[in-house]
Amino acid sequence: MTVVTRFAPSPTGHLHLGHAYSALLAWQFARKRGGRFLLRIEDIDPGRCRPEFEAAILEDLAWLGLAWEAPVRRQSDHLDLYASHLDRLAADGLLYPCFCTRKDIAAAVSEMAGAPHGAPDDAAHEGPDGPLYPGTCRHLSAAERAERLDRGDTHALRLDMAEAVRRTGPLNYREGDDSVPARPERFGDVVLARKEVRTSYHLSCTVDDALQGVTDIVRGEDLRDATDIHRLLQVLFGLASPVYHHHGLIAGPDGKRLAKRDKAATLKALREAGTTPVQILERLGLPGAEAG
Ligand code: GLU
Repeated sequence: MTVVTRFAPSPTGHLHLGHAYSALLAWQFARKRGGRFLLRIEDIDPGRCRPEFEAAILEDLAWLGLAWEAPVRRQSDHLDLYASHLDRLAADGLLYPCFCTRKDIAAAVSEMAGAPHGAPDDAAHEGPDGPLYPGTCRHLSAAERAERLDRGDTHALRLDMAEAVRRTGPLNYREGDDSVPARPERFGDVVLARKEVRTSYHLSCTVDDALQGVTDIVRGEDLRDATDIHRLLQVLFGLASPVYHHHGLIAGPDGKRLAKRDKAATLKALREAGTTPVQILERLGLPGAEAG
């Protein structure tokens, strides 16, 4: 089977060394195996994504020496596809509207933490998307739900996690040669459609990886938790599951993982300061392009 890898950045800022590491690992993984490498722009967040960042991503990756197949898939062009997947989950009774604001959620979480019996174990955890949802809107009556929807109240759509996991049974995914358990229930009722856009990272990423025939997902270990959720969605939608290869994260001089706000580590800043792509590969401890 031909290996297919991808790099899937969100155009919300300039790429930094951590992104370069991830992109190069995915690209080298495919090249070593005579496979294909795809670039996908995950631009579903209308408030944070900008075309100039997308253009800068292409420029930075080309400068690093990467080549990818055309056309580049841009998620904002496929919102209908994600909506149709949401409709399937809704028809299966696995989604419910959530009208909570971040503030409502924070208040409910802290109320639970202060309750006489303390918070349930899970409430202390953070999911990949923030604090665990306390389930407020799961308990709305059908009448209340209908009334708020009729009124046009803005809402997200959340997955009824307990029910979804009950239907799929125990889950595993492949991490390299190993089979590891996926436990999405740790993350509660995750949002699958956000208030401002009828999809989410989890949904569109899972659907696209399958649709694009990605066989191997090379990405940072900060997304390991998300993989549990993606595995669940794959089973719910009957999609093939790729092999995952989560890699370590690149730290900045302070020892903390790089973030988009670390301007000095952006490829743009490094390039402007005279750093060459070969020096970037050396700094990341990666073999040169010829060796890849
Ligand atoms: N778009 C995601 C990000 O920028 C990464 C998606 C993925 O590799 O699964 O963090």
